Amino acid sequence: MFRALKSLFGGRHDAGQLALELEAPAPPRNADELLAHLRSLGLKRIERCELTQNRNVMVSFRGQQLRVHEGYLGAPADVHQAIVAFVEGRTRAERRVAQRRIVAHVVDTPASRGPMRRERTRPDDEPLAERLTAWHARFNAEHFGGKLRPVPVRVSRRMKSRLGHYTAAQKGEQGEIAISWRHLRRHGWDEALHTLLHEMVHQWQDETGRAIDHGAGFRAKARDVGIAAAAKRAPGADPLRFASGQG
Ligand SMILES: [Zn+2]
Repeated sequence: MFRALKSLFGGRHDAGQLALELEAPAPPRNADELLAHLRSLGLKRIERCELTQNRNVMVSFRGQQLRVHEGYLGAPADVHQAIVAFVEGRTRAERRVAQRRIVAHVVDTPASRGPMRRERTRPDDEPLAERLTAWHARFNAEHFGGKLRPVPVRVSRRMKSRLGHYTAAQKGEQGEIAISWRHLRRHGWDEALHTLLHEMVHQWQDETGRAIDHGAGFRAKARDVGIAAAAKRAPGADPLRFASGQG
């Protein structure tokens, strides 16, 4: 995996080419995919999984419900394994080791970056950001009745574990959407547009006074705008959905 990343970002590839060069399976991208993945690693007692953006809750569970910070979607394999051990571990020692591994994974959140340090798109990535911003306007008209605010969409080279992020508007600053540059390179344009729509659903939650989460309301709206909130998807497995956006 490390080697694959190195060759991918080693500068031997045409920077303008967003080819699908994925070698490892794509990381889970939503709660259901994460749950399925954790099950494949041995998770048994959990029936429901919910993603959070609350930095105070990294991983927690009660009964059959598991809550995981969304920054763990793309966490390394041993962190996912640790989440399973944290839930299923038989001894306290086992669970403690798992816990240590879980919290050692640094989640990339606005809070962890500090409030004043919003990343800027690199000049090289501006054409991508402009294209994503144009798609934002188009999706806004197509799926949200043009009611969402026109927010900047930037390309993030800092984002490692997440595919994209919506930052809620705060006093003095407008909201914004960030799409991971690695995600674009690794999964291609169609997947990045899928992520853009996902983040736009969060923007819609924010601007209509709803909680920003992945609950039932999110899933209903996601289905409404034509993205698979719950379904398992493989990269590139859905060539029709964004077919009009090719090129
Ligand atoms: Zn989300």
